[in-house]
Amino acid sequence: MTDIAFPINCFAELPTPFYAYSIDLLHQTLQTATNAAGPDAHIHYAVKANANPVILQKIAKAGFGADCVSGGEIEAALAAGFDAKKIVYAGVGKTDAEILRGIDAGIGCFNVESAEELEIIAALASERNKTVRVALRVNPNVDAHTHKHITTGLSENKFGINLEALQPIAERALALPSVELYGLHFHIGSQLLDMSPYAELCAKINDLQDSLSKNGIFVNSINVGGGLGVDYDDPDKNPIADFDTYFATFKNGLKLRDGQTLHFELGRSIVAQCGSLISRCIYVKHGTVKKFVILDAGMTELIRPALYSARHKIQNISATEGSPTETYDVVGPVCESSDVFVCDGLLPVTQRGDFIAIRSAGAYGEVMASNYNCRKLHPAYFIN
Ligand SMILES: *Cc1c(COP(=O)(O)O)cnc(C)c1O
Repeated sequence: MTDIAFPINCFAELPTPFYAYSIDLLHQTLQTATNAAGPDAHIHYAVKANANPVILQKIAKAGFGADCVSGGEIEAALAAGFDAKKIVYAGVGKTDAEILRGIDAGIGCFNVESAEELEIIAALASERNKTVRVALRVNPNVDAHTHKHITTGLSENKFGINLEALQPIAERALALPSVELYGLHFHIGSQLLDMSPYAELCAKINDLQDSLSKNGIFVNSINVGGGLGVDYDDPDKNPIADFDTYFATFKNGLKLRDGQTLHFELGRSIVAQCGSLISRCIYVKHGTVKKFVILDAGMTELIRPALYSARHKIQNISATEGSPTETYDVVGPVCESSDVFVCDGLLPVTQRGDFIAIRSAGAYGEVMASNYNCRKLHPAYFIN
């Protein structure tokens, strides 16, 4: 059970909880993704998955662009060294101040989510005497078959412009002098392991391009978003996401026009597996029927289980190989009933003081941490 990327002796003295990141695995992941994508694809790392400055700097150094969803993320990406021209900016609620920040920084593209937003971006760009690139975020009505809180591509969803509404908004973008209609943007959901929704997305994009070109509308770029899933059940067997199959699905499925560039916005698949949340067992409590392992980490450090019933592999890394096992509910200390990492999980017999690793916590972990219950934010350590 000590089969973990992090040697326990290197953090035995550290106070818990904390995040431990394997920089080696991050590098291998970035390299694998880059090779699989090929020289013509542009990958914009989705900053919202993990905005730790060290992680951002490594990803920027690897040549990736950034996908931002707020002014704060644009600041973080610029500070980490991302090239402003490789920043794309999505989000349904961009404020005027955030839009101006993007314009002034000279970001590569605004991914526009509504007709009203397009008008505001155009007005602010014209105030600055600039022409800005926009991509229209299209809601392709593809069911990603993922958890309802992380599906984004259905019509009844706050994200994107519905297919029926697209043509007039595209025409309006063409007519506005301060914007350049640069591309079409899509993002159908997250943690997709089955590639068929992506194949369906490709078919929708091909149809859409056909109907737009009939009306004389051509765009320079197609951005298919992110969402590639990772193996939460067995991160040691599959430490790197299946980038080959993912990129091949788009290469085979999309009919790009001459000169069109292809963009991706991967978040989770870049950073999930390189991070673990390391905690200690504070108490083992015997209920009437259940046994509880109570950790010093909870939903304040990793909210995914509480927020969308996500499962993470949990390991007792203090236990010795072959020790007897026991069924536990592994829970955090926060005063919410949903602060549970697993119900009826099988762990080696656990005692107060044991180190417990919650794996695959590199994406949507540290970045979603909160001070709820007046808890403090916890540090990250990097292992080479
Ligand atoms: C969240 C998000 C992504 C990244 O999703 P992952 O599942 O982490 O790959 C990409 N694009 C947009 C617009 C997003 O909101």
